[in-house]
Amino acid sequence: MQGVLDERLLMAALEQSYNAVVVTEPQLDGPGPRIRYVNAAFEQMTGYRREELIGQTPAMLQGPATDPEELQRLRRQLEQGEFFEGSAVNYRKDGRPYHVQWSISPVLDDDGVVTAWLSIQRDVTRERQLEQEARLLSTAVEASAASILITDPEGRIVYVNRGFEQITGYRRDEVIGQSPRLLSFGEQSRRFYSDLWSTLERGETFRGTFVNRDRHGRRFYLQQSITPVLGDHGEVIRYVGTGKDITERVRIEDELKRAATTDALTGLANRLSFEQLLEREYERARRYDCPLSLVMFDLDLFKDINDQHGHEAGDAVLRALAGLVLANVRTADTVARWGGEEFMILLPETGLRSAEILAEKLRERVAAHRFAHGDPVTASFGVSALREDDTRKDLLRRVDEALYRAKHLGRDRVACLNS
Ligand code: GH3
Ligand code: MG
Ligand code: MG
Repeated sequence: MQGVLDERLLMAALEQSYNAVVVTEPQLDGPGPRIRYVNAAFEQMTGYRREELIGQTPAMLQGPATDPEELQRLRRQLEQGEFFEGSAVNYRKDGRPYHVQWSISPVLDDDGVVTAWLSIQRDVTRERQLEQEARLLSTAVEASAASILITDPEGRIVYVNRGFEQITGYRRDEVIGQSPRLLSFGEQSRRFYSDLWSTLERGETFRGTFVNRDRHGRRFYLQQSITPVLGDHGEVIRYVGTGKDITERVRIEDELKRAATTDALTGLANRLSFEQLLEREYERARRYDCPLSLVMFDLDLFKDINDQHGHEAGDAVLRALAGLVLANVRTADTVARWGGEEFMILLPETGLRSAEILAEKLRERVAAHRFAHGDPVTASFGVSALREDDTRKDLLRRVDEALYRAKHLGRDRVACLNS
């Protein structure tokens, strides 16, 4: 008959099947149905030879980790004469457990009576292990406080974890399918992105600090690593970004930097940062041969203000003076508190004459200003410009000398010195 295998071919097929095959007697009572036939794959899976198996029941493969509920489910199903699919832990002859997956069908005779059970089995231990590992990893990823974001090769977000949600304020359904650019504050340079892409194109991990904007518009800093994940043929299948919110650290660093470079009373640059800036501007003026001037000024008879109105009033004068001077210089100019009531102004791209004009203007403004304590305040100014063979020290010494001269000539005046 066409489509029907002869018995020998059928036996060979069963015998050589990749899956393990067991055929049992139909009786389900007692310890279970007796084994009538096993194939070679079954011997291999269990470690028993067929002589050891024939006449026994599959219960011989069960042990402490075999789930009794699953066995009950199996028995109930078979008692109904129905197909069963399930899995359980079984034990090999050498005692090693393995995870088996069964599908068991009744074999019926012409009258519809069950004459045997055919069980096709597969050892799924490895798959189960992989599933378990994958579950473990995804739990770790999900629970991590770090932000974890995965995109497809086109840069569309396919996964974000809880850490991402917490840091950015976005729920995952709001960002899936979007580009991570949605977080960009627009402050990163073109260079930053070209570095990012060239690193990823080389298949390497990019590390950088991203200036981002969260769902509420708040700026946050994400220290992030982005790694391309490659497929079997070396093609990128995913990009995985893991990041840490370093906003607080950046804030503290900025604060420390500010505290280290500014004067607490007036908010002006302090002497240290002024000296660093002078060094840079000095080099630049030398290299490009541009003018550079300094103005130094000191309050006149400030001791008297302190003595008559108190130290607090003196401090208020210093603060007001800082504001007054800042309001009268260009943004490129730097005003610093050089000492107690001594100030310095750095004027890039400015020659002696312009510096002198500025100093004169400031002198008038100070003298005309009505300070809170009521009495007039004046200041004396020294002015000097960078000369050809000057070191920085020469320039500083000369401007100090100019100021000394202004004091000596009677205060409330500007003295220029350039030789
Ligand atoms: P001159 O015109 O010669 O500069 O006279 P002067 O009184 O200003 O003399 P000098 O520069 O020697 O004295 C500076 C005074 O400034 C002494 C000090 O008490 C006061 N001073 C320095 N730093 C501060 C400060 O931070 N706050 C206040 N209130 N006073 C200060
Ligand atoms: Mg003084
Ligand atoms: Mg002084």
